[in-house]
Amino acid sequence: MRGLLVVVSGPSGVGKGTICEVLCRRNDRISLSISATTRSPRAGEVDQVHYYFTTPERFREMIARGELLEWAEVYGDYYGTPRAPVARMLESGRDVILEIDVQGALQVKERTPGAVLIFVWPPSPAELERRLRGRAKDSEEQIARRLEWARTELQAVPKYDYVVVNDQVEDAVCKVEAIMVAEKCRPVYFAGLGVVT
Ligand code: 5GP
Repeated sequence: MRGLLVVVSGPSGVGKGTICEVLCRRNDRISLSISATTRSPRAGEVDQVHYYFTTPERFREMIARGELLEWAEVYGDYYGTPRAPVARMLESGRDVILEIDVQGALQVKERTPGAVLIFVWPPSPAELERRLRGRAKDSEEQIARRLEWARTELQAVPKYDYVVVNDQVEDAVCKVEAIMVAEKCRPVYFAGLGVVT
C-alpha cells in the first residue's frame, strides 16, 4: 500500500518538532522528510540528519530543476522539501511527515491530492510566549517577530484538515496517530490506490 503524506505546521515554539520526533520513534513505518535550507546549522545540528544545509545558489538550482516538492522563504532563509526521497518512501509504503511552514503546506495541498494537513496550536497565546522564552534560543526581537508571525499563520488554519492543540505531547501524538488511521480508512485513500474507483 502507498504511504500517507502528512504535513505538520504550527508556530515556532509550539512543539511540533517534538510531536514529529515521538511519532517517528514509536512508529517505524513513519519517516520524517529532511528539508533543504540555506540557513546556518545551529549547535548540535548535523548536515543530512536535521537538514541538507546548502547555499542560496544550489537552492535556486534545485528550484529550477523542479527537485523540490515545495519551498518557501521563512525568516529570511529558504527552506524546501526534496521531492525524490518523499516519492520513494511513499511508493515503498512508508508514511511521510513534512514539518514545514504554512506557505509550503498550501503548495503541497495544491500539488498532492491525498496529503493531510495538520496544524499544531498551543493551548493559549500566553503559553506559546512562555515556551518561546523557555527555549532560550531567540532574542526579544525574534520572539516578538515569531509571535507576530504566529498571528499571521493562524489565518491559514481553515485551509488545514485538522487542528491539534499541543497541551500534553502524549495526547497530541495520539491525536496525530488517530488522524492517520482515520485518513487511511477514507474511500478517497483507496481510490488513490486504485482499489475503489
Ligand atoms: P527552523 O529554522 O527553526 O528549523 O525552521 C523554521 C521554520 O521553517 C519552521 O516553521 C519549519 O517548519 C519551517 N520549515 C522547515 N523545513 C521546511 C521546508 O522544507 N519547507 C517549508 N516550507 N518550511 C520548512
